[in-house]
Amino acid sequence: MSEKAQVQNVLANLGTLLPDLESVYKDIHSHPELSMQENRTAGIAADRLRAAGYEVTAGIGKTGVVGVLRNGDGPTIMLRADMDALPVLEATGLPYASNITTDQNGKSVPVMHACGHDMHVTWLIGAATLMANNRNAWRGTLMPLFQPAEETAAGAQAMIDDGLFKRFPKPSAILGQHVMVGSAGVVRTRSGVITSAGDSLQIRMFGRGAHGSMPQSSIDPVVMAAATVLRLQTIVSREVAPTDAVVVTVGSLQAGTKENVIPDEAVIKLNVRTFNEDVRKRVLAAIERIVNAEAEASGAPRKPEITPLDRYPFLENDPEATKQTVNAFRSYFPANRVQDTQPTTASEDFGSFGTEWQVPSVFWFVGGTDPETYEKAKKSGTIADIPTNHNPHFAPVIHPTLEAGVEALVVAAQAWLSIEARRNLKAS
Ligand SMILES: [Zn+2]
Ligand SMILES: [Zn+2]
Repeated sequence: MSEKAQVQNVLANLGTLLPDLESVYKDIHSHPELSMQENRTAGIAADRLRAAGYEVTAGIGKTGVVGVLRNGDGPTIMLRADMDALPVLEATGLPYASNITTDQNGKSVPVMHACGHDMHVTWLIGAATLMANNRNAWRGTLMPLFQPAEETAAGAQAMIDDGLFKRFPKPSAILGQHVMVGSAGVVRTRSGVITSAGDSLQIRMFGRGAHGSMPQSSIDPVVMAAATVLRLQTIVSREVAPTDAVVVTVGSLQAGTKENVIPDEAVIKLNVRTFNEDVRKRVLAAIERIVNAEAEASGAPRKPEITPLDRYPFLENDPEATKQTVNAFRSYFPANRVQDTQPTTASEDFGSFGTEWQVPSVFWFVGGTDPETYEKAKKSGTIADIPTNHNPHFAPVIHPTLEAGVEALVVAAQAWLSIEARRNLKAS
């Protein structure tokens, strides 16, 4: 039987499984959970893996779940999905929209699966189930992993710190995927860096408070912070080569409580995205230099306090493993459904698994936008207007997005596990 036929065998039951997967997706979508609170979602994933015959370990890195299915001699392949949602008020108007609110640091916040991790969980449940039900089409060990807290960059590390590498077999490859704006069902990837590094910083700038009518007695942190924000914009325009893509976004600037009180301090929160380590170091150094110099220019009584918030590593696709995955995609999907992508300024902690375990990893995007809507937007140059991940209107179309992600995971896993794929690899 050819490699393609073995893949098709595994996927032959996808149609039968689809209504069930659709209800799993809608259920998870309407019950989103914030980072490190994914108890219900993790429970669903664990139950499904158990039912399919996996050995299941739950509670890794708080809510992480790992399944292991040993099916004879062969490589171990890890498939990863993230589970968390975001503090966003859903505005999709979908019949299965979330109306959940939850506690975040003592404050009640709305919660929405605005990044599509509900789709990721469903994809992985689907792929893990199909692989378990068709064990004669492959040999090796399949290891689906459900990760908490991707949105806070803490989840992958939490699982690693909880002994992931000691407790489970080292895989030959780690595979993951993300739903994104793009024609639904189209799979896009690239060799090398695919998502940027993300660095978030908090900067406290200190001044001296005074009555608003007596600026001579103050060192005004509002002006200090405002000048800093403007000067920070020159990093991208004046300090970085035009060929290096960088983002410096000040997403929060807070100072003062009242129009006639000059406050004591201002707090800036900013986010940086870069695609290589030299540029990253240069940008972070420039931020520090500008922040300190602006404080000094204002005569600040104290040096500013710069605190790193979260940090996402670069996500780099292994060239060999990417080639193997893309070849498998190309032999399964129609030509127009496998495309190259540019690196995106989104960030991901998926890369931590491969980097720290020293295992080649491959990550790809699956389009989730209604193909007609996407084509229209492309023609009119309005793709940027389609609600992206994290937008309250973000709503992947269920079909064919759901099928495509399950297919992509199975096809990619089978590039290592299918008996025929291994025979071909050995021969080449
Ligand atoms: Zn996200
Ligand atoms: Zn995401």
